Amino acid sequence: MSANFIPWPEEHSVALKTMVLAGAGSYAEIAAVLNAKFGSDYSRNACIGRAIRMGLPSSNPRPTQRKPKSRAESPPRFKPWKIDLPPVNKIAELRLQCVEIVPLNLALIDLESCQCRWPYGDDQITFCGHPATTGSPYCLPHYCLSIGLQIDPGRLQDKAMEVAD
Ligand SMILES: [Zn+2]
Repeated sequence: MSANFIPWPEEHSVALKTMVLAGAGSYAEIAAVLNAKFGSDYSRNACIGRAIRMGLPSSNPRPTQRKPKSRAESPPRFKPWKIDLPPVNKIAELRLQCVEIVPLNLALIDLESCQCRWPYGDDQITFCGHPATTGSPYCLPHYCLSIGLQIDPGRLQDKAMEVAD
């Protein structure tokens, strides 16, 4: 027969009530104390059931030790933003546009009106000097470069030769 169905002697009930109200410990601990004191065999659940029947709190007999959880104390939970950016070294490199032509590096004073005026150099500015295409201040490769046109370098060389002739 379960201990739940054995009527509690008055002194057991008083001891239980006293310990629960005093916050003497958990119901498991109180049951152990009762069993040790009275030689009984009360389980934790038996003590809880008896406490409920006596109108005692059943959940936690030690209300003074319960720490109220404040929302303000707990750190805010949020996920850090994750932005998928390509690695810096994967970003396309800037490509300096140039043409495969060896400039004659003419000074401005030596430059004739029919010669390419594509500038070279930083301090000492010189000019391409190859024959300019008709209607342009540049030779064909530099003209194409100036308008962002990409032509096969071999073809450009042939065209430049044609213009030169
Ligand atoms: Zn040129």
